[in-house]
Amino acid sequence: MTVSDLIQTQKAAHKKGAMHSLKARTDMLSRLRTMISTHEKELCDAIATDFGKPYVESYITEIFTVLQEIDFHLKHLKKWIKPESAGTHVTVFPSKSEVHHRPFGTVLVISAWNYPVHLSLMPVIGALSAGNTVVLKPSELAANTSATLKKLIDQYFQNQVFSVVEGAVEETQDLLKQPFDKIFFTGSSRVGKIVMKAAAEQLIPVSLELGGKSPAIIHSDADLEIATRRIWWGKTINAGQTCVAPDYVMVHETLKSSFIETSRDVLSSFFQDDYRCGENYTRIVNEQHFERLKELLNSSFVLFGGTVNRDHLFIEPTLIESEWTDQVMQEEIFGPLLPLLTYSDPDEMVEQIRSKPAPLALYLFTNSDPIQQKVFTGISFGGGCLNETISHLGNPHLPFGGIGNSGMGSYHGKHSFDTFSHKQSILKKPVWPDPDVRYPPYDQEKLKW
Ligand code: NAD
Repeated sequence: MTVSDLIQTQKAAHKKGAMHSLKARTDMLSRLRTMISTHEKELCDAIATDFGKPYVESYITEIFTVLQEIDFHLKHLKKWIKPESAGTHVTVFPSKSEVHHRPFGTVLVISAWNYPVHLSLMPVIGALSAGNTVVLKPSELAANTSATLKKLIDQYFQNQVFSVVEGAVEETQDLLKQPFDKIFFTGSSRVGKIVMKAAAEQLIPVSLELGGKSPAIIHSDADLEIATRRIWWGKTINAGQTCVAPDYVMVHETLKSSFIETSRDVLSSFFQDDYRCGENYTRIVNEQHFERLKELLNSSFVLFGGTVNRDHLFIEPTLIESEWTDQVMQEEIFGPLLPLLTYSDPDEMVEQIRSKPAPLALYLFTNSDPIQQKVFTGISFGGGCLNETISHLGNPHLPFGGIGNSGMGSYHGKHSFDTFSHKQSILKKPVWPDPDVRYPPYDQEKLKW
């Protein structure tokens, strides 16, 4: 079947109301749940083949989080799909007003390689839950996971409701020419612009989940040990190839040397110099990204770490002493290198971060309310944590998404349902009364009303 035929088939199914009822939606979500839990090992093995991710890490970040999201939708969907009643303004009295949540129709989900199950299926859950039919385009860089998803989804779903189209740039660009009703894209800001331009040609609404340089800030009053552990945890998960990984750390100058020493201790307690592929530590996804990271490393002043092995696409967690002008500070790192910068004046620190493109995440370690206020209100960023990294995306009650260069729109939990629903306003009016005042002729007398 051609891509064009597939989209027409899905549109026809949508028109016939294939996903209209609560039952159809919960059936699809339950089926997805069964598919994932039955094949969790196969999915984790595919990820390990793609980039050596340890099983436990894959289970937590790719399987558990997705199952949790499905359960959240199954629990709340009945409530979410009910029309919301809205207030009635005096100008339209008497009447009743309602907001209905309608599916867009047939949606395209394009995902990134770095959490290839999570980033593919989390948006799909929202799309199905909101009653859409879905075409998923996983990333070609996680080729085994993409093929496994294709095989399983073909086995568990009729393609008129949910289907996978595999491919790279050319195939994605073909998909972008199709008349989808909504596009949900996860990936780089560079490709996000390509997707948005293509969508603009047909006025297709888009959600863009992009990246950026997410700072972690350790203020002078922070619990340094906890801050260091949590920052390195966020940086070493998936070998730093995480959209919300702390990209760099800004440490108050009074804590600089303690942070360096504590970092050594933390990393040796995490790994004990044992970076076995697929068991303890993830590999860099391919040679191109390995070379990119190696070049950043070569241009940097390494405080510790820095071991690389091209044959095994291995890069050790590495702390780098850095300045804003360094090469490593010019682009999203997306790897296990952590530049360390210091500050003394919080206002200057806020100003420096604010002068850069808005990051996807920001992490602040402090107990001071005024510092929280200064940082959280002074800097524009997608979302983040206080005294923690990454975990905000694990809470389905919180919207997850970027701002400016790091994206537009948000999802997770009810926010996913909303992202994939059109809010349709309906005003219901009785046929009586029907006063003449609003009808022509518009003579001056009517202004006296
Ligand atoms: P990418 O932008 O290179 O690719 C993403 C998707 O776009 C893939 O499916 C790919 O096939 C497709 N694509 C690539 N080039 C294209 C082109 N020229 N035309 C059309 N489609 C194209 O991103 P990636 O390398 O897979 O992922 C890394 C980036 O994604 C990082 O910037 C990271 O921060 C970001 N990211 C964001 C989130 C988030 O939730 N906000 C999550 C994961 C990754």
